[in-house]
Amino acid sequence: MDNDGAASQLRENALEEAILGKQGWSREKLETAVAEQQEKFAGLLTRQGALEIIARTGGAQLPEQPKEIAYTPLAKAGGMAGSSINAVARVWHAFAPKRFSKRDESGKERSGRVCNVFVKDGTGDATLVLWNNDVSLVEKGVIERNDCLELRGVAVKNGNSVELHSGLYSRISHADSQRAASLPKNEIKTTALSAITSSSADVDTYGRIASVGKASEFTRVKKTGAQEKGYVCSGALTDGKCTLRIVGWDENARVLEKLKIGDAVKIESGYAKPGQREGEMELHAGWQGRIVPNPKGHGLESSEKMLSGRYPRRMLSEIADGEEALLIATVAGLPSARKMKKCTLCKAKAGDSDSECPVCKSPLRELLIVRAVLDDGTKSAYCTFFDKQALDLLELGEMSMDASTALEIKRGYLVGKPVKIVAVSRKNPLREGNDLVARHVISTRPDPIAEAKELLAKMEK
Ligand SMILES: [Zn+2]
Repeated sequence: MDNDGAASQLRENALEEAILGKQGWSREKLETAVAEQQEKFAGLLTRQGALEIIARTGGAQLPEQPKEIAYTPLAKAGGMAGSSINAVARVWHAFAPKRFSKRDESGKERSGRVCNVFVKDGTGDATLVLWNNDVSLVEKGVIERNDCLELRGVAVKNGNSVELHSGLYSRISHADSQRAASLPKNEIKTTALSAITSSSADVDTYGRIASVGKASEFTRVKKTGAQEKGYVCSGALTDGKCTLRIVGWDENARVLEKLKIGDAVKIESGYAKPGQREGEMELHAGWQGRIVPNPKGHGLESSEKMLSGRYPRRMLSEIADGEEALLIATVAGLPSARKMKKCTLCKAKAGDSDSECPVCKSPLRELLIVRAVLDDGTKSAYCTFFDKQALDLLELGEMSMDASTALEIKRGYLVGKPVKIVAVSRKNPLREGNDLVARHVISTRPDPIAEAKELLAKMEK
C-alpha cells in the first residue's frame, strides 16, 4: 500500500470508530448507511467520503484530518507539462463525446472514445480530456455543468490550452461541498422549453422524452472534402406544457436512441433551428452540446402524470387499430414469459444456442417477452410486453433469473391487479382481430377510486 492509501485507511478506521463509538451504531447499520451514501452519488463516492458524510451529519466527534493532499491551482498547471497532478475544478462546459480510430506505432487500427470538458477554478482554466471508460461519466450524465470535480492523478499536457488527461491511474469524482464552495460558477440560466425561440443558442433546458425515433447513419462531407460517417436521431421533449422536437447528432444520437418515453433529460448548450414545416422549431444537440440522461434536480413533473395527459384514455373496446392510448385494465392472466436473443447491432433474431449474431456476428442481447390477458369490463385482449415493459410489469430491475421462474413468482401477485399502461393496438397476423403491444408501463398499482372519479368527470363533460 502506498503512503496515500495507508493514510486514507487510517482515516477510514478513525471515522468508523467515531461512528460506532460516539453514535452507538452497529456495524451492520454502518455498512447500510455507507452503501446508501455511495448509491446517492452513483458510485462516485469513496468509502472514506461516505464515512465523512455519515460522521458529520450524525454529530460524531470528527477525528483530526490527516495531512491534506496537495491540489495544484489550474493557473500553475501549465508549467507542469509531463507531470501528474491533483486539482479541484468546476465543470464549465462538457462537449459531446467523440469516437476516433487511428493507427498505433505497430500499424494496428485502434478505436476509442474521447471527450473534452472545459473546467475552471478561481485561478484559471483547463481542458479535462477524458478517454475511453471515463467518457461514460459524461454519457451517463454523472458529470453535469457546474458540478465540482476532484481530479486525482491527471496528466498535464500543453496543447492550445492546458490539458489534463485522464488515464489508467487517475480518479475523477465529485468534490466535497467545502472545496466546491470556493470555485467560480457558470451563471448560464436554464431556459423553459416554451421560452426557446428559433434563434436560441447555447441553451440549457429540461424535459421528459415524449417520443424517440430510430437513429440513422449518413455520410457527411467535411470542409476539407473528406467524408465521414455521421449518426442522427430525433425525438420529442416535453415539460408537460410545451413539446419540442429534438435532434441529437453523432454520440448524442447514441445517447438519445437508448432513452425511453418518460425519461428525464437535460440538454446542455443546445441550439434551436426552424423545423421542416412552417412554424415548427427543433432543438439540436451537436458537437458543442449534449443530452444528459437522468439529470440531478430537474424539478419536472413525474413521468406518470406527464404521460397521462399525453395519450387519449380508452376502454379496451374503444381502442382503434394503430392507435396509442392510455389504458387501465385488470391483469386477467399471464399465460407466458420467454426470453429471446437479439443482435445488438442489426437487431436480427438469434436462436437460443447462438452466442453471436447469425447475420453480422455482433454480440447478442437477451430480452424478455411477457404475454398478458387484460380485461377492463368492456373487453378482454392479449397484450405483449417486450423488454423494458416486461421488466416494469414484473417489477424487476434486470433479468437475472429464468423467465418462467420470474413469472411464477409474480403471477400470484399480479393476476387480479389493475395496471395502467400506454399501449398500441396492432392487427394479429395469425388470427382475426387486434392485439395490444405495451409501450409504457405507467403503474402496476393505480388507485382504482381516483381513476373511476377521473373517468366519470370526463364522461360528464
Ligand atoms: Zn446482427
